[in-house]
Amino acid sequence: MSGGDMAKPLLGHWSMEGDPSITPAAGRTIGVLGSGDFARSLAIRLVCSGFKVVVGSRNPKRKAGLFPSAAEVTFQAEAVKKTDVIFVAVFREHYSTLCDLADVLAGKILVDVSNNTEINHHKESNAEYLASLFPACTVVKGFNVVSAWTLQSGARDGNKQVLICSNNQEAKRTVAEIAQVMGFTPVDMGCMSSACEIENIPLRLLPAWKIPIFLALGLFLCFFTYNLVRQVIHPYIREQKNKFYKIPVEVVNTTLPCVAYVMLSLVYLPGVLAACSQLYYGTKYRRFPDWLDQWLQHRKQIGLLSFFCAALHAVYSLCLPMRRSHRYQLIETAVKQAVEKKMNIWVEEEVWRMEIYISVGIIALGLLSLLAITSLPSIANSLNWREFSFIQSTLGFIALVISTLHTLTYGWSRAFDENQYKFYLPPTYTLTLLVPCTVILAKVVFNLPCIQQRLLRIRRGWEKGRYVKFVLPSATGEYSSGETSSNV
Ligand code: NAP
Repeated sequence: MSGGDMAKPLLGHWSMEGDPSITPAAGRTIGVLGSGDFARSLAIRLVCSGFKVVVGSRNPKRKAGLFPSAAEVTFQAEAVKKTDVIFVAVFREHYSTLCDLADVLAGKILVDVSNNTEINHHKESNAEYLASLFPACTVVKGFNVVSAWTLQSGARDGNKQVLICSNNQEAKRTVAEIAQVMGFTPVDMGCMSSACEIENIPLRLLPAWKIPIFLALGLFLCFFTYNLVRQVIHPYIREQKNKFYKIPVEVVNTTLPCVAYVMLSLVYLPGVLAACSQLYYGTKYRRFPDWLDQWLQHRKQIGLLSFFCAALHAVYSLCLPMRRSHRYQLIETAVKQAVEKKMNIWVEEEVWRMEIYISVGIIALGLLSLLAITSLPSIANSLNWREFSFIQSTLGFIALVISTLHTLTYGWSRAFDENQYKFYLPPTYTLTLLVPCTVILAKVVFNLPCIQQRLLRIRRGWEKGRYVKFVLPSATGEYSSGETSSNV
């Protein structure tokens, strides 16, 4: 596996329940340095959780009214003297102004809650910097991943995890215990060297979504341009017809299903490539190339974006008849038919095509919704592995097949009509079929008994050209073992 999530250390969770070495935290006095947004919310939460709170401010008289009456607001030095655990709710730039307190802070636990404005802004983390300013104190990094709002509204309304790290186990335990009493889930991130990583977490903007979003945008741009040329530019150049009104709704609505459909196939394509690689090398123990590894890890986000585009396509399609242009076209057609005295305009084939097209589209959207819902962590956690893989793998593949039917019924015989080739460009739906049909075909091939058997054996550890120990049941039902060539 490449970097990403797997490169991170496993998170440790504390379980305080039943641990006799731990004294109850509630009732203990906790100090807070600073009287800003975070300090205020923290003080409220601590008071609500049963702690005594003493706030250290440079100007306690002015700030006292902002805190709950149960919290004592005093000068910084006074506050520090009254407690052993102090939350430093002050920006990094102002840490040096606390140096006058070094003597009274000596031997105490300082909790660094600070964040930066940029990822890897400073060479050393804020917590390490604080520790360097106060060498006689024990610094614990924590609580920076929760916002002032989460603190105030209670852990139930926001992220419950509080990531904690420190070089001192005892201090880390104390802070973890306080977090737990406050209703948060402390997560042990190890020693102080993890502080930088913890400080970067609140600054990340959807890291797992970057590649899928760029992929979706790239596909959207390509298909949009292609459809624009076919639906707007071509009639303008060839017939001097102004069809620019189609851009906001019609062109977008023909682009969205293309993106949704191709993205859905891109969820299953890396699995096909991975299986090809395993079949080719005859082993599952060979690392996939990094790009394939990354692709496999982003399948959930790609699938969710596919669902998003499909849902937008459904809404756009429902709104098509609301447009003025649609009404004018309907009236125009009706008038033309009246003038030509056409009575029967019913085309049986078209009626059936449309009925099937809509029905199949609704089923595909329904299945995509199911896939999206079951990929949510709270739902996914309630499913066992078999249920999850049935929904995501089997039903997902069925959704791809049904989407293909939807596309085929939409295109119908257009691929064989030469008028549909604008500037020699084939209808868009024929292009979108390429990747999904390759995936479907590959899946069918992998399900052929001879290939399926080989793939199954590889996934159970069999390797091409290697001798393995085997265990076979004998006729009497007992097991006998021996050495054989796995190639046989
Ligand atoms: P803030 O509202 O600006 O409060 C900062 C406080 O620092 C001031 O109220 C001030 O209190 C105190 N301070 C001490 N020395 C200071 C100095 N020399 N100059 C200016 N202020 C000084 O900021 P905040 O939003 O509460 O954030 C405080 C810390 O919490 C930051 O490190 C931030 O990264 C972290 N944090 C905040 C949030 C959040 O949602 N706001 C979330 C996670 C982490 P006195 O005037 O009473 O001394």
